[in-house]
Amino acid sequence: MNITAVCPGSFDPVTLGHLDIIRRAAQMFERILVVVMSNTQKTATFSVAERCEMLKTVTAGIGNVEIESHGGLLADYAREKNAKAIVKGLRALSDFEYEFQMALTNKRLNPAADTVFLTASAENMYLSSSLVKQVGMMGGDIHDFVPECIYDNIMKKFAKSINY
Ligand code: ADP
Repeated sequence: MNITAVCPGSFDPVTLGHLDIIRRAAQMFERILVVVMSNTQKTATFSVAERCEMLKTVTAGIGNVEIESHGGLLADYAREKNAKAIVKGLRALSDFEYEFQMALTNKRLNPAADTVFLTASAENMYLSSSLVKQVGMMGGDIHDFVPECIYDNIMKKFAKSINY
């Protein structure tokens, strides 16, 4: 089978947790579309273009991954791309209720795509983009949280919006 899967998120910025999910999804499906969703309620620190650029850098070595952005509904995007799977990472129980609600809603809007949950790796269980921003903007060391190749870019951005 030749299945296209979508990995959606805000990726503001991409973390080692996201990258782990993308890598594992890339081993399970033929084609992975990582899509930066720009319609979320969250106020972003990085522009959509910056988030896409960082994702391209960190996934450069993975052959079957493409980076895109989308401003509308995920269900419509998946239909447009003929994607049969929406891959999401599940960290703790706290993710579950929201993700379950989103999965059921997306299934209703696009019955052709199923949401597939991958368990977060133990070392990334606590990791989120907001944690990276909280620590980084206060001058803390974020080396353990983000891919090394985008560390400088992230810190440059944080230096402009420093909070202490
Ligand atoms: P965040 O919650 O960090 O702002 P996003 O909205 O960008 O993340 O999340 C995109 C997807 O990546 C979601 O499915 C989310 O559950 C998953 N994800 C985020 N952080 C991790 C992590 N540390 N480990 C596994 N999956 C994660």
